[in-house]
Amino acid sequence: MASTDTDTDPDQTPEYRFDTLAVQAGGPGFTIQGAHPTAVPIVAASSYWYESADELDRVLGDEQPGYSYARYASPTVVAFEQAVAALEQAPAAVAFGSGMAAVHAATMASPERGGGPLFVSQDCYGGTFVLMAGAVRAAGAPVRFVDLFDLAALERLVAEERPTALLMEVISNPLERVADLAALGDLARRHGVHLIVDSTFTTPYLLRPLQYGAGTVVHSATKYLGGHGDVTGGVVICDSVARADRVRAWRKATGAILGATDAYLALRGLRTLSLRMARQCSNAAAVAQALARHPRIERVYYPGLPDSRDHAAARRLLPDGLFGGVLAFAVRGADRSAMMRLMERLRLVRMAPTLGDCFSLVLYPLIASHRGLTAAQRAGLGIDDNVLRFSAGIEDPADIVEDLEQALAGP
Ligand SMILES: *Cc1c(COP(=O)(O)O)cnc(C)c1O
Repeated sequence: MASTDTDTDPDQTPEYRFDTLAVQAGGPGFTIQGAHPTAVPIVAASSYWYESADELDRVLGDEQPGYSYARYASPTVVAFEQAVAALEQAPAAVAFGSGMAAVHAATMASPERGGGPLFVSQDCYGGTFVLMAGAVRAAGAPVRFVDLFDLAALERLVAEERPTALLMEVISNPLERVADLAALGDLARRHGVHLIVDSTFTTPYLLRPLQYGAGTVVHSATKYLGGHGDVTGGVVICDSVARADRVRAWRKATGAILGATDAYLALRGLRTLSLRMARQCSNAAAVAQALARHPRIERVYYPGLPDSRDHAAARRLLPDGLFGGVLAFAVRGADRSAMMRLMERLRLVRMAPTLGDCFSLVLYPLIASHRGLTAAQRAGLGIDDNVLRFSAGIEDPADIVEDLEQALAGP
C-alpha cells in the first residue's frame, strides 16, 4: 500500500504505511502499574469517579477531557476509533453498536439536515433502504432514491432539488457495480452537497473516500473490519473534528455506542485487515475466473473481470489488481427451488446473511437482503431470481472453487 501522504511533523510519531498502521494504530496509552499491555484492555466500567468533585464537574461539562459515563465514551472504544481514523487518514472516528446505527447517525447528525431532501443511492444495502424509506421518512426527512450511474440526470436532479446530502455505496450489492466516486465527489463539491460514503465493501485497505471529497465515511464493522463473524458494530469517520463532535453528541443522545467487548474484537480484527483483504480479493478473483468458464454459469458480476461493465471505473479507483472480495453469479436456467438446493449442496461455503468474514459465504438475495422487494422492484434493479452473492474467505482458493463446482454439478 502507498504510504500516508499527510504532512509529517518531525516531532510526531513517524508516518507509518497502511499495513503497519493496521497493526499498530489505536490505543490510548494504557499502563498498568507502569507496564504497557500488548493488547488493549476491555474496560467494562459503565461509569467513572474522581477524587475531586470539581474535576468530575469539569469532565461532565466538557471543560476537561476524561471519561465519565460509558454511553459517552469508553477507552476500548476510543482505541478502536483511533485505529480506524488512522487507517482512513481522518481527524476522527465515532464507533456505533451496528452498521445501521452508524448509517443513521451519519445522515441525521449532520448540520445540513432540514431544508432539502436526502439523496440515497437506489441500489444501497437493504437495511439502509428500509431505514431511509421507513423511519427516516417517517421522521419527516424527505428521502429520494437516485441512480448513481446516470451522472447527467443526477446532476440535473441535484440542481433542481438541492439535496442536503448524498448517501452512497461505492460497490453496489449484490451486482458489484462500481460508482465513479471521483465524479460524484466533484458533483457534491460543486453543489455544496454533503457526501456520505458507506465504504463497507471497500474498507480503507482499498479506498479512502475522504480523498474524493466525502465529508463522512461509514462502515459496518460487522463485515471486513471485524472480519471473523463474531462482532456487530459500525463506525462513522469524519472530515473534521467539529463534525465528529456532532456525531458524538448524536450518539450520546441516542445511546448507540459500541460495547467495550465488541470494540476489542473489532480492533483485534483490524490488526489483520491488510492480510485478509489481500487474500479475499485474490480468492474472489480466482472464483470469478473459474465461474466465468463454467458451463452452468450464465453471468459473473465482478469488477475484476476485464469484460465487466465497471472494470475501467474499478481500475481508476482501486489499487492495482484488487477488486474487492464480493462477487455475484447467475446460474443458467435456475429457479428459486434450484437455487435453494444448490446452496444446500455446498459443504465448505456457508450460507449466511453476511459478508467479509474470513470464511467464504453465499447469500441468496431473494430470501435475504432483497426479500422485502417485489419481483418487479428486483427486476428493476437487475437482480434476477437465479443470482447468488458470494463473499470470499481466506481459505485455499482451490477448495472454494471445488466446493462451488461440486454444488453446481448437482441435479
Ligand atoms: C451490513 C451492511 C450494513 C449494516 O451493518 P450492520 O452491522 O449489519 O448493522 C450497512 N451497509 C452495508 C454496505 C452493509 O454491508
